[in-house]
Amino acid sequence: MAHWRALGVPGSLVAAVPNMRAHGQSGLTAGLFDLVVMSPTLGERTGWLELKVGKRDLSPAQRDIRSIMAALGVPHRVEWGRDNPIRALEEWGAVRRSRR
Ligand SMILES: [Mg+2]
Repeated sequence: MAHWRALGVPGSLVAAVPNMRAHGQSGLTAGLFDLVVMSPTLGERTGWLELKVGKRDLSPAQRDIRSIMAALGVPHRVEWGRDNPIRALEEWGAVRRSRR
């Protein structure tokens, strides 16, 4: 999120998705990926990015949602660490590519 705020492409959006751990709202759904991404590169498609740390893997609910996205051709990525999610955002055209 901080990376997108600093280097976000005009006309793009990266936003956190409330999941079951949020409270007080109907329609909260276990397994939704962490971030929703819109960009001029993605166009009419919306990207979903799941962020993972350490050795954690997808939960069963996340696997179910990933299966739906895979079947429908919805852009989605599961990325570990700090740099890999940024790379996904770059590939989706949501943030400018940084020199490295
Ligand atoms: Mg996560």
